[in-house]
Amino acid sequence: MNPIPFKYLETYEVTSLAQLLSMTSIIDEATKTFKVGDQTFKEGDYISLDGSTGYVYGTAVKTVPAKISGHFERFMGWADATRKLEVRTNADTPKDAAQAVEFGAQGIGLVRTEHMFFEANRIKAVREMIVSKTVAQRKKALAKLLPMQQGDFEAIYEVMKGLPVTIRYLDPPLHEFLPTSSYDVAQLATEMNIELSELRSVIASLHEFNPMMGHRGCRLAITYPEIAEMQTEAVIQAAINVNKKHPEYNIHPEIMIPLVGDKNELKYVKDIVVKKAEEVMEANGVKIEYKVGTMIEIPRAALLADEIAEEAEFFSFGTNDLTQMTFGFSRDDVGNFLNDYYDKKIYEQDPFARLDQHGVGKLVKMAADLGRKTRPDIKLGICGEHGGDPSSIDFCHRVGLTYVSCSPFRVPIARLAAAQAAMC
Ligand code: PEP
Ligand code: MG
Repeated sequence: MNPIPFKYLETYEVTSLAQLLSMTSIIDEATKTFKVGDQTFKEGDYISLDGSTGYVYGTAVKTVPAKISGHFERFMGWADATRKLEVRTNADTPKDAAQAVEFGAQGIGLVRTEHMFFEANRIKAVREMIVSKTVAQRKKALAKLLPMQQGDFEAIYEVMKGLPVTIRYLDPPLHEFLPTSSYDVAQLATEMNIELSELRSVIASLHEFNPMMGHRGCRLAITYPEIAEMQTEAVIQAAINVNKKHPEYNIHPEIMIPLVGDKNELKYVKDIVVKKAEEVMEANGVKIEYKVGTMIEIPRAALLADEIAEEAEFFSFGTNDLTQMTFGFSRDDVGNFLNDYYDKKIYEQDPFARLDQHGVGKLVKMAADLGRKTRPDIKLGICGEHGGDPSSIDFCHRVGLTYVSCSPFRVPIARLAAAQAAMC
C-alpha cells in the first residue's frame, strides 16, 4: 500500500490523526463531515490508522488479527520464565479480554464499568438513574441496569476462565452521561416524560467547575450507596452463575473502589459492598471468596496507605489520576502547553505516558512500602497508562509490585519489559 496516507499529503503533510484533527477548519460538526484537500469524509466513511507510524489512510485498510506464534512465541516463553511481575490487562469487554489472553495476559487489572453504561441500549436507564429525585426512583432505574451489568460480568468471567478479574466501580462524574445539545436534552425530557425545565435544572445542578476533582469515584457511592449495591449484586451473582456452570473456574472477584483518599471513605463503601455480597451469597446458598481493594490515585491515599491498607485487600496504582493530581496538570488539557516545557528543557517527556519516577514514583514507592507494612501480603498493581510503558514497568519491578496492567495490545511489550527489568 502506498505509504502516503492521503493523496493530498503532499499538500497538507498530514501524517497523523492528531495533525489531521488539529486542522479544525476542515471539520464541520453540523454536517458531520471533514475535508482534507479535495476529499470529503462523512459519518460512516472509513479511515484507517496505523498505530505504529501514525499514518492515516483515507480508506478501510484490510487487516489480519495480530498473533503470537513461531519464534516470537518461543522467545516470549523465555521472557515469561524470567519475569517476576505478572502482566494483566485493562479490558471492559469480552472481546478485549479475549484478545489480551491471546497475547498472554494473566488476568484483568481494570474493568472500567462506566464504559458499559454508555452503550446505546443502556444510556436511557443510566440517565433515568441520574435524574431520579428519590432513592426509590433511583433503585428502579438501577434495577433495569442490573441484568445488563451482570451479563457483562458473566461474559468477561467466561472469557477469563478463572483468571483474576478486578472490577472497578463507577468512576466518572455523572454529568458525563447526560446529553449536552438542546435537541438531545429536549428529546430526553420527552422520553423520560419529565418537564424540560426540570431536566435542565438537574443538568445544571450536576455542573462542576472542576469535575475531575469533583463528585466522582467513591464519592458517588457515598452519596448514592444504591449504585454500589447494584454493582455488587451484579459482580457476585455473575460469579456465582459462572461458577455453577464451570466449577473449575472458581472465580474470586476483585472489587475495586476508585478515588479513595481516606480509610473511612473506603470503609463506608466496603461495608455496603460486604453487606450486599453477603445477601446475594445467602440468597443463592453459596459462598465465594472475593476481595475489596482500592485504587491509589490521590496523593493523600499514597501518604496514608498504611491506614488505607487496614481496609483494602489490594491496591492498584491509578497513575493517570495520581500523575494529574501530583503535578496539578489536567490530563485532558496538558497537551496545550507541555511542548513549551520540552522546548524550555523543563521536562523531557510526557509524565502521563512515562511515569515520573522522581516525583509520582516517590509516592508509589511510599504507598507500596506503607501498604506492605500493614498487610505484608497485599497485592499491588498498576493500571494507569504507565502499566504498558517499558521504563515505568522497570520501575514497578524495582518497587516490588505484583503486576502491571495495560491495554491488550501492549501486553506483549509489558511481558518483555518485565523480563528485561528482572534481568538488570
Ligand atoms: C488512573 O487514574 O490511572 C486510572 C486507571 O483510572 P482512569 O484512567 O479511568 O481515571
Ligand atoms: Mg483514575
